[in-house]
Amino acid sequence: MIAQNLAHIQEQITQCECHSETQSAVKLLAVSKTKPIEDILTAYEAGQMAFGENYVQEGVEKIQFCQQQQIELEWHFIGPLQSNKTRLVAEYFDWMQTLERAKIADRLNEQRPPHKAPLNVLIQVNISNEASKSGVQPDDILPLAKHVENLPHLRLRGLMAIPEPTDDVVQQEQTFRQMHTLFEGLQQALPHAQIDTLSMGMTDDMQSAIKCGSTMVRVGTAIFGKRV
Ligand SMILES: *Cc1c(COP(=O)(O)O)cnc(C)c1O
Repeated sequence: MIAQNLAHIQEQITQCECHSETQSAVKLLAVSKTKPIEDILTAYEAGQMAFGENYVQEGVEKIQFCQQQQIELEWHFIGPLQSNKTRLVAEYFDWMQTLERAKIADRLNEQRPPHKAPLNVLIQVNISNEASKSGVQPDDILPLAKHVENLPHLRLRGLMAIPEPTDDVVQQEQTFRQMHTLFEGLQQALPHAQIDTLSMGMTDDMQSAIKCGSTMVRVGTAIFGKRV
């Protein structure tokens, strides 16, 4: 099932890319939170290389297992991160997608092992302006981005968002277009940074996200099935 699901999603992505307003190439991140390592290995055997995890401990256990098997995957941390858990993210993950505070950036920078490549970082934007949701307000993107740009062990790559879920495609696209505008603004403000990643779109709104310029969709349910 997992292999067929992956093939189906890749096909959908290719179709959506053709209708994309921005013609961006889209990367598929397989969100494996709560799913067993067997599912990850099945996806890997089907050619999937990038995986997203929301919980530090669970993610680290899976990464350690793969390292022991000498299976080199790309690991993205996509959950909320408390400051007392930054060390494990800095030591084990390749990407951190949910940055929202300078203090967390400083800790990740200090704790990134110097022999590793810089940790790739996305700033999470609270685009639906929900009081309960994480992420920075649009006006706070640039100050945080400039802060990260000066940290040698981090590499700022772009923005990430989790919009409020809605079945209304018009609403979805409006929000994703706002994100794309912010993304272009960041590219223009920091012309020397490698700002190439706009992470948006999940199982239920992937198509709208790609149409509006997503470069990375984060898909769990459509690959691995429902989480319990
Ligand atoms: C769980 C999760 C996803 C995947 O959601 P699906 O609806 O299962 O595709 C994507 N991004 C984040 C940040 C998540 O926490």
